Amino acid sequence: MSYRGRFAPSPTGLLHAGSLVAAVGSWLCARHAGGQWLVRMEDIDPPREVAGSAAAILAALPRFGLMADGPVIQQSSRIAAYDAAFEQLRRADLVFPCWCSRSELAGVSGIHRDGHCLASADPSRPPAWRIRVPDEEIAFVDALQGPQKQSLREEVGDFVIRRVEGFYSYQLACVVDDAWQGVTEVVRGSDLLDSTPRQIWLQHCLGLPTPRYLHLPLVLDSQGRKLSKSERALEVDPIDPLPSLRRALSFLGLTPDENASDPSALLDAALAQFDPRHLTQCSDHRAA
Ligand code: GLU
Repeated sequence: MSYRGRFAPSPTGLLHAGSLVAAVGSWLCARHAGGQWLVRMEDIDPPREVAGSAAAILAALPRFGLMADGPVIQQSSRIAAYDAAFEQLRRADLVFPCWCSRSELAGVSGIHRDGHCLASADPSRPPAWRIRVPDEEIAFVDALQGPQKQSLREEVGDFVIRRVEGFYSYQLACVVDDAWQGVTEVVRGSDLLDSTPRQIWLQHCLGLPTPRYLHLPLVLDSQGRKLSKSERALEVDPIDPLPSLRRALSFLGLTPDENASDPSALLDAALAQFDPRHLTQCSDHRAA
């Protein structure tokens, strides 16, 4: 199968230096492989959504020279597919309703284990739905971070795939859509490295293929903290895209072409020198 990558932002704020690195990194890997690069808007968490940010992110990407191959998928229009995946898991008896509160779980390190609920069923209010996890390590080889393994039972526990409010979790929606879009390579920030075993487990339960994974180092702020869109940290300016695009390329270990006069020329020059094997030279320096 030919290479198909993607960039999957959440509309929780404007594009920032960290998400630009994920966008550029995934774009470079896809283009280097002669593959496709897709964009998916992960807008299935209304309480966390910042009004207008989905449109702002989508308008910003072409300003940075990042043009998707094909229409942008909005997860808010894919609920029927998540319903179907949820039903598949329910029929296979892999998920269970759970009324446990955060404070009840705090007494067991916040980890829900072995399908064992601390709270009793309460038909008067809707439950969250959790998926049971195996008592074994999930292992995979990250193309940049190397061999990884995680015991879902010990470190994560039975995890929520549908919240009390009825919203599907990022883990479920991401897995369903990566498969539906035929994504073969997931390139994203290493803040999501520890989500990957959960996603591999869901792929296994749903009979979906597992793509290859490459997790880029995290961009830190000037204090050495992880950037977070909610802090509105280091937003990038689509009106003046070259400085932040150059910083993103430098972060990825490339030497930006100082003579490039527009983002597409800058990206093309970067692509000519790009080799994913050199991503290990990614600086873990600040992008500020
Ligand atoms: N939507 C997620 C985020 O913005 C990224 C999802 C992914 O790349 O798998 O953090």
